[in-house]
Amino acid sequence: MENEGCIFCQIVRGEKPGKLVYEGKNLVAFKDIKPHAPVHILLVPKKHIRSINDLEEEDRAILSDLVFAGKKVAVEQGIDKTGYKLVYNVERGGGQYVFHLHLHLLGGWK
Ligand code: AMP
Ligand code: ZN
Repeated sequence: MENEGCIFCQIVRGEKPGKLVYEGKNLVAFKDIKPHAPVHILLVPKKHIRSINDLEEEDRAILSDLVFAGKKVAVEQGIDKTGYKLVYNVERGGGQYVFHLHLHLLGGWK
C-alpha cells in the first residue's frame, strides 16, 4: 500500500513537511512547493498508486473523493467562482514527475 522512498507517501505519513490544507479519509491536500498558479494545491490519495494507468476498479471511491475534495478546497481557497483547472499528468510524456497519483488544483488568476 505504501512506498518507502515515495515523497508523497512520506508527506502522507507526516515524515516530510507539507503545507496541508485538507485531510479526508482517503486523501490529503497540500500546497505545491513550486506553484504554477496563484493557488496550486495537490490532492493526493493516501494509497500509493503510481499513475492513472495503475487505477483499479477498487479505486473508484478514491478517485471520486479526489474530485469532491478538489471542489471543496476550491471553495475554501476562494477560487470556485473565478474558476480553476483540475489536472492529472500521466507518465513522463504527460508531464508527471512524481509517481504517486495526484490531482492538481490550479486557479486564482486575475
Ligand atoms: P507532476 O509533474 O504532475 O508529477 O507534479 C508534481 C508536483 O509536485 C510538481 O508541481 C512539484 O512542484 C510538486 N512537488 C514535488 N515535491 C513536492 C513537495 N515535497 N511538496 C509539495 N509539492 C511538491
Ligand atoms: Zn507514494
